[in-house]
Amino acid sequence: MIYKNLIRDNSFFEKMSVIVKNNRLPNSIILYGDDGIGKEAHAIELCAMIFCKSGDIKPCGECYNCIKVKNLQNENISLIYPLPRGKIKSKNDSTSKALSEKNRLLLAERLKNKTLNPYSKINLPGANKILINSIRELKKTIFLGSINDNFKIVLILDAHKLCHPTQESGNSLLKILEEPPKKTIFILVTSEYDQLLDTIKSRSQTIKINNPNTELISNYINTYKEFHYNPLITKMCNGNLRNALDWTLKEDSYFESIIHLIEKFIFMKSINQMPKAIELLQVSNKNGDVNTIFILLNSILSDIIKHNYLIENIAENNFYTNLIINISEKYKDANWEKCIDLVNANFMLFKSNANYEIQAMNFLLDFNRLLKGVELEVFSIENWLYKN
Ligand SMILES: [Zn+2]
Repeated sequence: MIYKNLIRDNSFFEKMSVIVKNNRLPNSIILYGDDGIGKEAHAIELCAMIFCKSGDIKPCGECYNCIKVKNLQNENISLIYPLPRGKIKSKNDSTSKALSEKNRLLLAERLKNKTLNPYSKINLPGANKILINSIRELKKTIFLGSINDNFKIVLILDAHKLCHPTQESGNSLLKILEEPPKKTIFILVTSEYDQLLDTIKSRSQTIKINNPNTELISNYINTYKEFHYNPLITKMCNGNLRNALDWTLKEDSYFESIIHLIEKFIFMKSINQMPKAIELLQVSNKNGDVNTIFILLNSILSDIIKHNYLIENIAENNFYTNLIINISEKYKDANWEKCIDLVNANFMLFKSNANYEIQAMNFLLDFNRLLKGVELEVFSIENWLYKN
């Protein structure tokens, strides 16, 4: 195997080993599943299965080919991922123009990380799509024979970015898939399956990578750090090991401050706390903590619902259980389901919106109304004009 630190979806490897053994590899495979569960690492393992010289269906991780796969340097693998536009002006420009010197160094670092950490991402600033230039370059080489007449693999990461926000790269890839070169396998990896073009889906075999279960996640996190908050991290990550690993790097005080912020300022006692609450949300948006806040808030709200309906015994950790019980008793009239909808909608908005101050204020006001059991009015301009 290539990654010793990957939680493996065994059903995937069983399925693929039958396919590889019987030489029934399709031209195109889509691997999809939730964010942060190690899909790209599963794809890299699959490459090693195909190239390993050991003759065994499990890649040895030690032969020349496996080492090359491991270092992301195998000549027969074309690795494609989103790039920023950089100095690219036309469709014919080389992708080498996409990267500034700074981004080139960053890319080298990300690639190195990827060889060590199965959950790391090769994400570069401003890389919002897979450039058509990458597909055009691929077209120039893909129809040439491979080294040692081996298979060629085109491994496309964040493949939905072929088709979103624009479809030109997806359409360009589709042309290749319609008349695929011999002995070439396309592996498309994505967490946004719905965004892929239907025409690409219909030409591919689709395989889901499943989330690891709670026990595996909990054991995995414990090997990284003995930590008071590990049960909370296991719960919050919901299978996303990339988030979980980020959280294991934090100190106790980090989680204490996030919990404090939620308890005191999102579930605020009086509206006088609003300015401070807005300020805290703005600060956490700047330093990236807003992700953790919204994920924890979502987890708290779902557990309040489970607690209220006695669906599940949430006792895992005293402080967390107490938090759930306290909040749920404090707001007896709250509409918890709508609170979750509001949190999810605002999580997306916070990621994309630049006007955090108004965003934060709207969110806190609406959240407070829902806690008191007040129905939110749908905004209509007529209403607003009439009242004002
Ligand atoms: Zn090998």
